[in-house]
Amino acid sequence: MGRAPRWVRLCLAGLCLLLFPALAAPPAGLIELRHDRTEVPLAPAMRYVHDTQGDGDFASAQRWLDEGRFAPLPDGRTAFGFQDGAFWFHARVVNRDNAETRWLLVQSYALSDRIDVYARYPDGRTAFQAGGDHLPFSARSIRYRHPNFWVTLPRGEPVDLFVRVQSESSMQVPLSLFTPVAFAELSRDAQFVIGAYYGILLALFFYNMALWLSLRDASYFWYLFHLSAFGLVLFTLNGLGFEYLWPNSSWLSDRMVPLSICLAQIGMQQFARIFLGLRERWPRGDRVGLVLIAFFALLGIASTWLPYHISTPLASAAVLISIAWIAVVSIAVVRRGYAPAKLFLLAWAMFLLGTGLFVGVAFGLTPKNFLTEYGVQIGSALEMLLLSVALGHRYAQLRNENERIVREAKDQLEHKVEQRTAELRSALVQLEDAHARLRESSQRDALTGLHNRSHFRDRFDALLRQAREHRRPLSLLMIDLDNFKLINDRHGHLVGDECLRWAARTLGHALRPHQDALLARFGGEEFVVVLPGLNLAAATQVAEDLRQHLREAPFRSGTHEINVTASIGVHAIETLAVAGIDPLLQLADQALYRAKADGRDCVRTSQEEPA
Ligand code: GH3
Ligand code: MG
Ligand code: MG
Repeated sequence: MGRAPRWVRLCLAGLCLLLFPALAAPPAGLIELRHDRTEVPLAPAMRYVHDTQGDGDFASAQRWLDEGRFAPLPDGRTAFGFQDGAFWFHARVVNRDNAETRWLLVQSYALSDRIDVYARYPDGRTAFQAGGDHLPFSARSIRYRHPNFWVTLPRGEPVDLFVRVQSESSMQVPLSLFTPVAFAELSRDAQFVIGAYYGILLALFFYNMALWLSLRDASYFWYLFHLSAFGLVLFTLNGLGFEYLWPNSSWLSDRMVPLSICLAQIGMQQFARIFLGLRERWPRGDRVGLVLIAFFALLGIASTWLPYHISTPLASAAVLISIAWIAVVSIAVVRRGYAPAKLFLLAWAMFLLGTGLFVGVAFGLTPKNFLTEYGVQIGSALEMLLLSVALGHRYAQLRNENERIVREAKDQLEHKVEQRTAELRSALVQLEDAHARLRESSQRDALTGLHNRSHFRDRFDALLRQAREHRRPLSLLMIDLDNFKLINDRHGHLVGDECLRWAARTLGHALRPHQDALLARFGGEEFVVVLPGLNLAAATQVAEDLRQHLREAPFRSGTHEINVTASIGVHAIETLAVAGIDPLLQLADQALYRAKADGRDCVRTSQEEPA
């Protein structure tokens, strides 16, 4: 056969394309179920069409398949982020030689609103099932947190699986086929991880609740708040909220994600503010925290009526900002030298990592695997654990700080008490001093500085007692300045005073050899002397001595030189016979009187007979 002209070949090819469009489409990926396969992800063979209007039906989907409009998954990813309309997925499955003909198709993402599954058999028969959280939980093939559908796959028959997904939540279609046994094993393992996670959360919750009840520290309350709200977020995302808490409410299914995210962020920001003591350590940062709290409060309220595809991406994006902010404040507070903030920072780093991975999946940025799917759980469990430790650390720090303050206050108090005691002691000393001076001055004569008459009487009693005890003699001198009135009259009273002071000094000087002699001003220009240990003769000698001193040491006032003399009466005391001082004074006075009578400037004794 000769070669047909080129244009004929082109026309034939075009005709073929018109008549058999399927030939033109790349062959749809085929999944073969071999006898050893028990768990088969659809992604490698899955192709998709984005029905942006969301109004295409099963017939349209079959037509699109025939027209080759189904495209391979971009980079094999099953997450598309938030999308409008509906997505159609197709995969052809052939059970080659697997004994199991009943398979479970599971979508390992809980939040899709509506999932329609069509299984088209070679004989044209189609089996249809619907799922997603816009249908009651009881509509599921088996009671499980992820949407699931029984699919019969007879041996040797290629079955076209069409899955239509429409959701306000992010478009994620991690579809897999499981044999019943494989599914039982997988779900058991997953439930174990989830159980362990909520076990940790519950233990931390009750442990910290007990601490909060006993310590009444607000940071514990906000920790509990954050932990509970965060637990609720994951309970919702895992599909457990729909399974156990609101199995018939698609309204709550849609609202609970943004709502619980907002609550968790409020708890987290508030906990950070209190734990880090932002108001004191960084007031401006504290205000930013308050703004974030207000934002999440408003968004939480708004999410009860805002469409899910607006509120959830908004909340998810805000979570990133919120966590970044937590990192900023904890670094700022660490740099300000607050030690418990380091543990706090580490805790949030764990959470940041886990949440970052998870949010990445929601936006189609990170691949979906065990670490990313359970990243939030792993990160947050570590975070909650570290935060609980950080709370304990912070409490210890607060207690140490309190102890230090109490100790310092005590030291200060002790110091003050010591100071006051010293002041008091010195005041007492001063008072004693003043008292002594007062007592001293009460014993002294103001003009001459000699002992006064009342002190003389006190001292005299003591001297008399001593003389009696030691059987020693005791003598008394009464000294009166002669014609003193004349001195006053001639030179004035002031000169008289000066003269009295001079006489006192002169008498004191003269008595120096007699250490224990008692000299006092008796009144006016009269002086009295007590001489312990001296008998009459010795006392008379002393009296004579005093008289001589007065007349030989002239008193000078200005240019005047005034002669001053004195008359002295001497009495030797019968120490054993004496009853009191007055009779003795009288006797000495009588002797003095005699000296005056005898012409003054002389000494007379009480023993002498009057002249
Ligand atoms: P006689 O020799 O008899 O003792 O004569 P006299 O003038 O010393 O005695 P008289 O008792 O008449 O006078 C004592 C005078 O001493 C009277 C009084 O004015 C004076 N006098 C008493 N006390 C003071 C004083 O404190 N200061 C002065 N300047 N004079 C005094
Ligand atoms: Mg006199
Ligand atoms: Mg006189």
